[in-house]
Order: sequence, then structure tokens, then C-alpha cells
Amino acid sequence: MLRAQQSNARNVRGIINLLGEEITAREEATAAAEEYAEILKILDARHIQSCISVKPTQLGLAIDESLFKDDLLRILEFAKSLGNFVWMDMEGSPFTTQTIDSFLELRKKFDNLGIAIQAYLKRSHEDVDRILDSGGAIRLCKGAYNESPKIVYKRKNQINENYSKLMRMMFERGKGFAIATHDEKLIEEAISLSNVHHANFEFEMLMGIRDRKKLELVERGYRVSEYIPFGKSWWAYSVRRIREHKSNIFLLARSLVSR
Ligand SMILES: Cc1cc2nc3c(=O)[nH]c(=O)nc-3n(C[C@H](O)[C@H](O)[C@H](O)COP(=O)(O)OP(=O)(O)OC[C@H]3O[C@@H](n4cnc5c(N)ncnc54)[C@H](O)[C@@H]3O)c2cc1C
Repeated sequence: MLRAQQSNARNVRGIINLLGEEITAREEATAAAEEYAEILKILDARHIQSCISVKPTQLGLAIDESLFKDDLLRILEFAKSLGNFVWMDMEGSPFTTQTIDSFLELRKKFDNLGIAIQAYLKRSHEDVDRILDSGGAIRLCKGAYNESPKIVYKRKNQINENYSKLMRMMFERGKGFAIATHDEKLIEEAISLSNVHHANFEFEMLMGIRDRKKLELVERGYRVSEYIPFGKSWWAYSVRRIREHKSNIFLLARSLVSR
């Protein structure tokens, strides 16, 4: 919460994520939902500009889809009553279809819900198409899980090409979406697209990565949010970050020490 306040002081908004995923006990899922409600209360009471981002398996998707939907529904209702927004993170491919289907169902009742889509997945063109048809908000990221080449693009240039393609669809047909990348070329490409289409979108980056770029974008007039993970279950998150960039080991060490 402190980190979100510090970001706000630099005109960067927060996206709070309570670390935790693939939980196996129903009580843990319900406890995570309750903790998100507490987070929303604090954000509201302290006037912190920050939404939240939840992982479906943290709310029970790997145990029982209806448990997950009930937990998410309670979070959504509470967030809506406070005028706040909830992102759904996208996890590994065993959960993609259920996550998107649940989003499309809940989205009919809640306009304060958005969903992450991974550009490395070959199926994402179809998913983006469906979500744009529903008017839903997409956070476009490259994708962070170790998946089979049968279902994902593995080469960087293929992933970036697909990212560009999906981003173009979003600028042409969507609004209120998020461009979640630290990639200079894709960020500048988004700016070019926004000059042709509209600027109803935001840039999203991870806490501690490319902080100077975040400020530069704010100065250039763009809305920027930073994803702030916190809590005890940091292992899986850390492994994904270190796989992307070896230097992230220093970033993670620093954030663990200064908790
Ligand atoms: C807000 C947000 C939410 C996300 N949500 C999800 C999700 O729900 N599901 C999911 O699978 N993934 C998610 N991700 C992770 C994402 O999929 C990528 O794994 C991660 O963002 C790295 O991809 P990249 O776009 O930065 O590109 P990369 O190709 O990894 O990096 C591109 C360039 O960014 C710069 N860069 C990257 N990291 C650093 C660094 N540490 N220091 C300096 N420069 C750096 C470098 O110039 C690098 O060449 C999310 C990412 C963000 C930012």
C-alpha cells in the first residue's frame, strides 16, 4: 500500500496483487477474497489511486470453478460499490478457457472487470476478437509461463509480431485497455497507434522495472499504472521474473529486504 502511495506521488497508479496461486484448500481461496476486500477498503479510506489484480487459481479455480466465481463475484460487488476496478491475471494454459469464459459471463453484470491476454498464445487472436465484441477491457502482455510450442510462439520476434497484431485490433475496436510491456519498440508503437485512433488506454509495467520510462510516459501525458505484488507467497512470481531477465534477481532481493 505504501508503494502505491509512493507511485501516486509520481502520478503513477497502482495495481495491487496479493501473491498466491494454485491454492488447494477452499478456505485459502475464501481467505484471499477476504483479504482483497480489506485491501479495497484501505485503498478507499486512504484515497490511494489503485485497482487490484487477482489470480483465478488464488480464488479457487484449480479446485472448483463455482468456488472461484463466487469469490470473484464478492470481490467485484465490493469493488463496484467503491468505484474500483478488478483485473483478472491470466495464468498457465490449463486455465485459459475457464478464465476467459468466466470473464465473459461476469462481464455481462460488471463493467469494472478486465482480463489479461497473453500474446505468446496462438489462440489469443480469437480470444481478443471475442472479448472486444463483448466490450471487455483487455490487458495485453507477452505471457510468462513455460508452455508447449504446440500452443505458444516461442521466438521473441513471433511473440512481438503477434503482440503488434493484437494491439492494433485493440486500438481499432476497444477502449479502456492496457498495454502491459516494458518493450521500448512496442511502447512507441502503441503511442503511434494512439495518435491515429484514440488515447483511451493505459501503460502498465511491473514494480521496479523501467521506473524512468514510467515517469517519461506520464510527462508525455499518458496514463501509467504499476503492478505491485505483495504478500508471503513470492516464490512462483520470482521464478517467472528471473526467467525473463537474470538482472531481476537483484530487484527481487531488494524488495524482499525492504518489505
Ligand atoms: C502489468 C503487467 C501485468 C502482467 N500480467 C500478466 C499476466 O496476467 N499473465 C502473464 O502470463 N504475464 C503477465 N505479465 C508478464 C508478461 O507476460 C511478461 O512476462 C513480462 O512483462 C515481460 O515481458 P515484456 O513485455 O516486458 O517483454 P520482454 O521481451 O521480457 O522485455 C522487453 C524489453 O523490456 C526491457 N526490460 C524488461 N525487463 C527489464 C528489467 N528488469 N530491467 C530493465 N529493462 C527491462 C528490456 O529492454 C527488454 O528487452 C504482466 C506484465 C505486466 C507489466
